[in-house]
Amino acid sequence: MKAPERSGRSARRQTRQIVLPHPTNPVAVGGDAPVTVQSMTTTKTADVDGTLQQIYALYGAGADIVRCTCNEREAAEGLAQIVPRSPVPIVADIHHQYKMALAALEAGVHCLRLNPGNIRKPEHIKTVAQECKDRGVPIRIGVNGGSLDERLYVKYGGKVTPEAMVESAMTELAYFDEVGFDDVKISVKASNVPLMIDAYRQLSEVTDHPLHLGVTEAGPPPAGLVKATAGIAALLAEGIGDTIRYSLTADPVEEARAGRQLLEAMGLRERKGLDLIACPSCGRAEVDVIKVANDAQAALEGKKIPIQVAVMGCVVNGPGEAREADLGIAAGRKRGHLFVKGKVVKVVPEDEMVDALVEWADVIANEGIEGALGRADEGAAAEADADRAALLDEQGADANAAGQKVELIRKTTSA
Ligand code: SF4
Repeated sequence: MKAPERSGRSARRQTRQIVLPHPTNPVAVGGDAPVTVQSMTTTKTADVDGTLQQIYALYGAGADIVRCTCNEREAAEGLAQIVPRSPVPIVADIHHQYKMALAALEAGVHCLRLNPGNIRKPEHIKTVAQECKDRGVPIRIGVNGGSLDERLYVKYGGKVTPEAMVESAMTELAYFDEVGFDDVKISVKASNVPLMIDAYRQLSEVTDHPLHLGVTEAGPPPAGLVKATAGIAALLAEGIGDTIRYSLTADPVEEARAGRQLLEAMGLRERKGLDLIACPSCGRAEVDVIKVANDAQAALEGKKIPIQVAVMGCVVNGPGEAREADLGIAAGRKRGHLFVKGKVVKVVPEDEMVDALVEWADVIANEGIEGALGRADEGAAAEADADRAALLDEQGADANAAGQKVELIRKTTSA
């Protein structure tokens, strides 16, 4: 399914491209590669089966790249078993101990993430960069506002500033340059959204390395989702960013799902799975829209069909309001009016609405939109028209009492 043509975005900034070298699923970041989704496991990396299960769940939810912590020897040993079985490139997250970076490389990881605030000795940094260069493994320079190099913190007046974060990244890059290593992507994350946005804007002015976007420690949903989306979407809309991660205090599957949904919503990735839309319900609603939408989401989510499905509260307006959806259902007079691209194809009893959506999602998956339209019941459109007319009769043309409100507005504004 094609991404929407109207993007509402600035042209994407040109960055160089790096590749995370997975044997069957190498993932390019930067350049003209699609913006990718990342997430991070929350299991102990030494727990190989548990971590692999989570990696597969993240992959299924839309993650292109997964990061695992490599904080101790047992974790590196776990990575040695995880990496060959992972369906996506694995990034080892390294803090403090440069030897863990070397151990992760031994385990065969496809990328390292180094925090310049935590590994500070130039000889250690250069040793790791040289080793990555020899093995063809990229590094993410992962600056984090909360663990900024103390010297920079002091230099910039005891504050975390965008300038300090950018300087931290560029200093690390200079060490890499000394050994001729430039297979690098960079992040400058902060939990403060305006700070993070400024830091990435400044960084994108001074480097063409691909950028990994994120609002760190965004917190639990829904506030965490809002914060992360605010920062990441603002930058993507400016054409900044090559790969993204939501950092939520939640099951990481939610991170991957949110990342994927954001990219799909912004037209940066083609739709891979379900996009369920539902009307907010109003005075015309003939059914509990929230319940039907939740049931439909649960029933369709696992099917991995790239489809937009609409759950609409009434047949008076539903098929028209959601005519762009591939498939939808609108309630009315105890029946569900199933429509494909706005055309009613079948009318079912109200308690079969969700089952009908599932059945027709499969039809669309197997036969396409045209095939589904070709299966339309002959009398379905006429039945829907009759139900619509009957509802208009019962409810009148102004079921939401909008006319009364308009009158009040007019009185208020003319007083
Ligand atoms: S008019 Fe119908 S479809 Fe639109 S919001 Fe109201 S109930 Fe939903």
